[in-house]
Amino acid sequence: MTLRLAILSRGPRLYSTRRLVEAAQRRGAAVEVLDPMKMSITVGTDIQRILNSGWEVDVDAVLPRIGYSITRHGVALVRQFERMGVYVGNSSQGILNSRDKLHATQLLTRNRVPVPTTAYVRNWKDVERAISQVGGIPVVIKVSEGTQGSGVFLARSLREARELTWELLDSGHNVLVQEYIAESHGKDVRVLVVGDQVVASMRRKAHGSEFRSNFHLNGSIEGVHLPKRYAKLARKAARLLGLEIAGVDLLESSRGPLLLEVNSSPGLEGIEAASGINVAGHIIDHVIESHAFSGVQLDTLLRSKPGHGVLSVAVRRHPELIGLKLSELFEGDPLQVIFAVARDGNHIWRPRASLRLQADDELICYGDLRSIRNLLRPAFHNSLHTSRRIELPAAFDEQLRDGQHS
Ligand code: ADP
Ligand code: MG
Repeated sequence: MTLRLAILSRGPRLYSTRRLVEAAQRRGAAVEVLDPMKMSITVGTDIQRILNSGWEVDVDAVLPRIGYSITRHGVALVRQFERMGVYVGNSSQGILNSRDKLHATQLLTRNRVPVPTTAYVRNWKDVERAISQVGGIPVVIKVSEGTQGSGVFLARSLREARELTWELLDSGHNVLVQEYIAESHGKDVRVLVVGDQVVASMRRKAHGSEFRSNFHLNGSIEGVHLPKRYAKLARKAARLLGLEIAGVDLLESSRGPLLLEVNSSPGLEGIEAASGINVAGHIIDHVIESHAFSGVQLDTLLRSKPGHGVLSVAVRRHPELIGLKLSELFEGDPLQVIFAVARDGNHIWRPRASLRLQADDELICYGDLRSIRNLLRPAFHNSLHTSRRIELPAAFDEQLRDGQHS
C-alpha cells in the first residue's frame, strides 16, 4: 500500500521541503505539501475533519514543518491529526515544548540535562539580580520564543542588559537572562536526531566577531566528530521534549556539553552539506517505519477512566521517606501503584520492592487516585509520628540544603 504523506509547510520551494518531497517520492510514497494557512479544522460530536481549501485531507502520515509565526495554528492542526489517529512526525506537545525556551529548559533541567543557567525576568528592575543569579556580566539576553538568532543579544554591561530587557519586555516578549558561555563564543554544535538516533551533526561558526552561530546569520558550517557524551545528551533532550525529529543545539563548554535549544523543524541544507548525509532520507525512512503507530499521552489516557490518573511524590519534599524501602511505603503491594522511580535524570521502571528511596528520587504512581493517596497516607503517618522515623545522616541534610546530588 502506498503511504500517503502530507508535509505541512508554507514553503514548497524551500530546500528542506524539496528534499523531503524528493526522498518520499524516491521511496514510493504519495506526498503533497500542504500550506497550514489554507487548512481548517472542524470538530463536533460526530465529526472530526481537516479541510484544505475546502477539500477533506485524508492521509496516513504528516510531517509538520511549522514556522514560528504560525505556531498556534500549526500546533492546532497537528493536534487534530493526532486526534484523528494520523501519525505525526512530531507531536503537537513536542512542538510546543520546544517553541518556548523557558519551558524547554524547565523540562530538560528537571531531568538533569546540563544547560547554561537561565533566569526569567518580568521586570527590568529584576535584571541586576538575574545577572548575579547566572554568574555576572557579560550575559546573554534572549526572548523565550525566538529563532534564527533574531532575539538573542550579548550584554556587556548592566546598563546594556537593562536597556535590552526593557525594550524586549516593552515589545511583549518573554525575556531570559542567561549565563554567557565565553569559551564557545561564536560556535555551537547542531545534532540531528531522528527516531532516537543521531543521524548527522555539524559545527556552526559565526561570521566575524558575531557571537551567534546561526546559519541564517551568515555563519559557516563544518563537519564534526561528535563525542559520545554529546550524542547521548542530544538524544536525551529530543526524548524529554517529546520530539522524534529534532535539531539539537549544544554549546561546547569547559564543563562539557550544555544544551542550548531544540528545534522541531530543523533546516536540512546546512547539515546535509556539512555532514554529507542524506538527512531527509533518514526522516522519511523513520516516517515509513513508524507511521503505523501514533503516540499517546499516557496521563490523558489514564485520566479517561473515572478517578484514575498519574501522581508523583518528590521525596525531597518528604524527607521522612528517605531511606525507606518501597515495600515499607505501602500496606499491600507497592508495585501495584508505583510504576517508576525517577532518579539521576533517568527512570527505574517497575522498581523492586527492596529499592531504597534517596533524597532526589521521585515516585511515579498510577491507578485509582484515591487509593494511591490512601496508600501513601499511612506511610507518611508512620514515619512522621512513630518510632519508624528515620534519622537522616548529616550528609543527607547537607545535600538537601545545597540541592546537590550525591
Ligand atoms: P535562536 O533560537 O534564535 O537560534 P539560540 O538560543 O539558539 O537562539 O541562540 C543563537 C546563537 O547564539 C546560538 O547558536 C549560540 O551560537 C549563541 N548563544 C546563545 N546563547 C548563548 C550562551 N548562553 N552562551 C554563548 N553563546 C550563546
Ligand atoms: Mg538556535
